[in-house]
Amino acid sequence: MKRIAILGSSGSIGQSTLSVIRSLPRQFKVEALSVNSDIVKLRQQIEEFKPRLVCVRDGQAACKLRSDLGSSVKVLCAEEGLHEMVKDRQIDLVMFAISGSAALNPLISAIRSGKDIALANKEALVMAGPLVMRLAKKYKARVLPVDSEQSAIWQSLGGFRHSDVRKVYLTASGGPFRNLPASKFKKVSLEHVLRHPRWKMGRKITVDSATLMNKGLEVLETMFLFSLRPEKIKVLIHPEALIHSMVEFNDGVIMAQLSAADMRIPIQYALSYPQRLVNSLEGIDFYRLSELHFEKPDSDKFPCLKLAYRAAEDLGTMPAVLNAANEVSVHSFLNKRIDFLSIPEIVEKVMRRHRRIADPDLTQIMAADAWAREEAVCLAG
Ligand code: MG
Repeated sequence: MKRIAILGSSGSIGQSTLSVIRSLPRQFKVEALSVNSDIVKLRQQIEEFKPRLVCVRDGQAACKLRSDLGSSVKVLCAEEGLHEMVKDRQIDLVMFAISGSAALNPLISAIRSGKDIALANKEALVMAGPLVMRLAKKYKARVLPVDSEQSAIWQSLGGFRHSDVRKVYLTASGGPFRNLPASKFKKVSLEHVLRHPRWKMGRKITVDSATLMNKGLEVLETMFLFSLRPEKIKVLIHPEALIHSMVEFNDGVIMAQLSAADMRIPIQYALSYPQRLVNSLEGIDFYRLSELHFEKPDSDKFPCLKLAYRAAEDLGTMPAVLNAANEVSVHSFLNKRIDFLSIPEIVEKVMRRHRRIADPDLTQIMAADAWAREEAVCLAG
């Protein structure tokens, strides 16, 4: 029985994780849950999964939950609470299902405690990839990817050495604007962006999918997780989203991972690794499948992709700056303060103004993150 903590249990990945656990009650036990402020959903989850600990980031919501629940469940609060939760001795694996840079500090705590990490959050790795991977090695914490593409690369690598890899095809559905002419981007509405054709996800990542910044962040994620140079990572548009990524080896052999576009599949694999457990999720019916399509992404139309490759070349504090400026811009777009085209414009300006530090420690990364946020807030008006 693996004992699991989920950070961000009310979100899309958090709920899918609980759905996987619900279907495999003999293999997994929910030990701890955390939410930002949604205590209504958390109470339902507590009732069903009976965790020993919960953490609510918002102080007021935590107090309310504490008085509602009495002493039946330990209620922790704020970032200190998250640290205490991920370090708990009775937890084997921590699922990081929160989005954004808020995951970085608790991730480092979990790694220092030597936990298995199921990582759905990409921002923490983008900000501090070399540092995170170095610590994971030192404390023997396994970082198990949950993002469908990273899971696919991990599975396709199948134990081969990273030096055997010629290139990686990182597949992308292309987002809702793959076929929209660039001239129409100015008038793209928030509602249109939030209607993603293949995956149902949280709001931040849905906007990132429309700008292709999501894929850009994944280029950085791939580099750090599998120690690959950026030129070995090729983004490939594949609208059917059945091939979740491919690895081409030095001898020209390509291994691909295919499955239905259902996040519960990579989530289950991260939880059950190295086992493959029986489930009732759908496979792919090749008899009903006629064609698969592939194309090269247009990085003039989607400049976020170019910006991510630039950050991947620069490294140091630049990926953290890219990520922070993007988080602020996306937030402003979601609040209808800026238009769709302003997202890459703001990210580019902030990157251009940044004085990069080559091999930053955590303090320098956090300082670059804070600086980039301030710059982006000014630009986003
Ligand atoms: Mg992905």
